[in-house]
Amino acid sequence: MAIQSILQVKDGDTLGAVRGFLKTLLEERVVDSLLVPLEVPSPDQVSPIVVREPRQLDTANPLAPVMRINAAAVVAHIQREEGASRLGAVLRPCELRAVIELAKVERIDLEQLMLIGIDCMGTYEPDAYAQLARASADSPTDEMLRWTRQGPIAPYRLRHACQMCEHFTAENADIGIGLIGLNVRERLLIQTDDPIAARLHLHEGDTNGRQKAIARLASIRQHRREQALTQAEQLLHDLPSVIGLLASCTACGECIGACPFCGTNAFKPQPIKEPTDRLRDWSRNKDQMAHERANGPLSEIIEWGRRAASCVSCGMCESACARHVPLTAIQGVIGRKVREEFKYVPGRQTDERLPWAIA
Ligand code: SF4
Ligand code: SF4
Ligand code: SF4
Repeated sequence: MAIQSILQVKDGDTLGAVRGFLKTLLEERVVDSLLVPLEVPSPDQVSPIVVREPRQLDTANPLAPVMRINAAAVVAHIQREEGASRLGAVLRPCELRAVIELAKVERIDLEQLMLIGIDCMGTYEPDAYAQLARASADSPTDEMLRWTRQGPIAPYRLRHACQMCEHFTAENADIGIGLIGLNVRERLLIQTDDPIAARLHLHEGDTNGRQKAIARLASIRQHRREQALTQAEQLLHDLPSVIGLLASCTACGECIGACPFCGTNAFKPQPIKEPTDRLRDWSRNKDQMAHERANGPLSEIIEWGRRAASCVSCGMCESACARHVPLTAIQGVIGRKVREEFKYVPGRQTDERLPWAIA
């Protein structure tokens, strides 16, 4: 059963408390290794890196409001390349939801993974983050932590996807680290099941005010999302606007490379192993057919539709686009119909069926 416990923060050092908690996971052998954002080579740059030694967590900063890559793709890569080991992944909600979608198409094995989710107030583009980190006396992490208690923050400098993100709390994780609605200079919320809580010596505690702060932030984000999707919908309904949109695209493919689902070929139709007799007679070349099925134009359309249905609105595609095409909202509009029709929320539950068939 999931329990809510309180992690006390000493001397107002919130980041120190999170680092200490993650170190305990390695020390107590709850996981063998951790994928976690580290400040390397300097505090103005933060990237997800695998660590095996507790001391390596001295530069961990999963609270930094920056996301260079959706780490779900990194998890899939590690599991593919390095095989089974008990990996813990410290993830933002949009990364965690992408992991769940990738698990549904067998690109990630949840049995070998401990999901450690963390509340997210939003992230800056990496350049903006580096600039802020160098320019201000307060680190961007400290600045962001000031707002966790109330919930709403002035979002205009955050990435577009974050300004309209509705899923910003650590849900569906094996261990959830809650910040929103709490005075994080004094305490953090840890949500986990009984056995893990007992191993980590955690005790139940109350979280008054959290739900209100979450509701306030959700209402601001929903409003922004509705505005962005309505604008994108108008663009997509108007042919000259669509042409204008496509005219600015250089077909560089950066958006595709940045999406956690594309790099893993998660939604590409797979070549059929044994075509039916009718198809074999017609083609006489089943290898070529299989190749065409996996790479032809129909395959692109199918992949696009599946991606839109499973899109977790992380905005990595838009962040990668030098032409500032509003890809998060466009994906949102394309996928909205499918999601409404099938009442499907990407990344909500591991056992929720995809709104399309898999072989
Ligand atoms: S999209 Fe949401 S979860 Fe992802 S970084 Fe932005 S605010 Fe955080
Ligand atoms: S990143 Fe932007 S410019 Fe490049 S292909 Fe994608 S939409 Fe086009
Ligand atoms: S399509 Fe864009 S917003 Fe959606 S999951 Fe992929 S990168 Fe994220």
